[in-house]
Amino acid sequence: MSDLAGRLLAVHARIRAAALAAGRDPDSVALVAVSKTFPAETLLDAVLAGQHVFGENYLQEALAKMVDLDRLLALRGAPAAPEWHFTGPVQGNKTRAIARHFDWVHSVDRLKIAQRLSEAREPGQAPLQVCLQVNVGDETSKGGVNPAQAEQLARAMAVLPGLRLRGLMTIPRPTDDPAAQRAQFRVLRELRDRLRTGGLALDTLSMGMSDDLESAIAEGATMVRIGRAIFGERPRAPAQ
Ligand SMILES: *Cc1c(COP(=O)(O)O)cnc(C)c1O
Repeated sequence: MSDLAGRLLAVHARIRAAALAAGRDPDSVALVAVSKTFPAETLLDAVLAGQHVFGENYLQEALAKMVDLDRLLALRGAPAAPEWHFTGPVQGNKTRAIARHFDWVHSVDRLKIAQRLSEAREPGQAPLQVCLQVNVGDETSKGGVNPAQAEQLARAMAVLPGLRLRGLMTIPRPTDDPAAQRAQFRVLRELRDRLRTGGLALDTLSMGMSDDLESAIAEGATMVRIGRAIFGERPRAPAQ
């Protein structure tokens, strides 16, 4: 078994243990392998080890990788069509390409961006699956709307024809304290519950990374976004 396949198995074991500890079905937690900075050859190893869902943060890098991975898969006669999730900050001038080439976007936190993604989705494509990114930490955490503004934005996104609003995403303020991790994830879950009660059909909580996936699953994560625990430490991010 390759090192990568071994790490992937270990991540599945962590997800399973965390779900069972929370009295949840392990199959209710999907794994997005966040492959930013790693080359298509590494993703091929992951596909061959059974992983089909990838998260990317940088558009140009991702587009090149999609082409390279398709070519590598075709050479192997492997029919797998990976699913691509955009997990990085969405810049206004990148919405067109993101809407066309990705299946999901986790990081929508402005109406203008949501509208542009919706308009750019091709009529022949299924609606783009999106999450609204919420800032559950404090001003030091990255991106996302403040919880008090989330409902208004979620309602506006839910009616855009090119999008399907699936749920909420967060990147919490980093902390080693499991209680503090859980408190932040709980804010997202409670917000999701309130929006559901208000009539929005949200089925996704995208939360949990390599260092805090157990806390996220305990609080109801349905998608964890895992990079380093699968691929190893990242080289420094390329400038874009
Ligand atoms: C890089 C990244 C991840 C993965 O983080 P790890 O700590 O490597 O597991 C998850 N989500 C987002 C939005 C990221 O940018």
